[in-house]
Amino acid sequence: MPRELGKHTPYFELVDAQSMPGCPVCRLAYKQTDRYLDSILYEAVLDPDVRTKLKNSLGFCREHTEMLHGKPGRALGTALIYRDIIRSVAEALVGARHRSSGAPSLLSRWLPGSREDLPVVQKLRASEPCPACKVAEKAEARVVQLLVVHLGEDKLYEAYAQGEGLCLEHLVRAIALTPDQETLDRLLQPQSKRYLRMLTDLDEFIRKRDHRFRGEKYGEEGDVWLRAMNAIVGGAGMGLSAESGGRHQDTGLRDKKR
Ligand SMILES: [Zn+2]
Ligand SMILES: [Zn+2]
Repeated sequence: MPRELGKHTPYFELVDAQSMPGCPVCRLAYKQTDRYLDSILYEAVLDPDVRTKLKNSLGFCREHTEMLHGKPGRALGTALIYRDIIRSVAEALVGARHRSSGAPSLLSRWLPGSREDLPVVQKLRASEPCPACKVAEKAEARVVQLLVVHLGEDKLYEAYAQGEGLCLEHLVRAIALTPDQETLDRLLQPQSKRYLRMLTDLDEFIRKRDHRFRGEKYGEEGDVWLRAMNAIVGGAGMGLSAESGGRHQDTGLRDKKR
């Protein structure tokens, strides 16, 4: 099908993401970060400047280290990145001094205050934030804005209304960006319906866990506890809390975890 003039790939990616499991903003930000990590693994082998930047951030935060860990072909790039980081950490320990002002009192030995000002503590802290977080943050902001700007269009709206909707964080961001009442209605009405349906499903799921009704088979409510977690923190289909929010099997993501 030919794509309309004036619409770029991110728009179509956004429309397509509505029919996939979980929050579409989380999904597209994840994809962007995934691509970034691929490129960083490649560049880190070739470019010492890339490794210097990663040394300043001490690599990645835990979430993105986990993502990196899941990547195929990651070993050499990772080894090169972390050789620089470990070397820098080891150097910071050499000659570390406490520089205590005066003899510590007995009380301060038992209840020591935090000494963030110690040079060794400062040297061991990252001087830059996780670069993958920065990529994800930018992507989230871009996608939320794209959603709000185009929600007046039926194609995107219908896809959004039928999809699993936004996680709470991205819903809040989208609300904050809505330019008018009509966009706000388009954003919130489908989302309210989802919450109400989720509540019905939660009631039904909890009822069936009662020993008196144990024999009853689960219907659509069987995965509602997963969907509920995803609705609040996002990440469905991305290994963060549930594979898919439960209702779809193909997450469309290469490095999904089970
Ligand atoms: Zn989200
Ligand atoms: Zn990060």
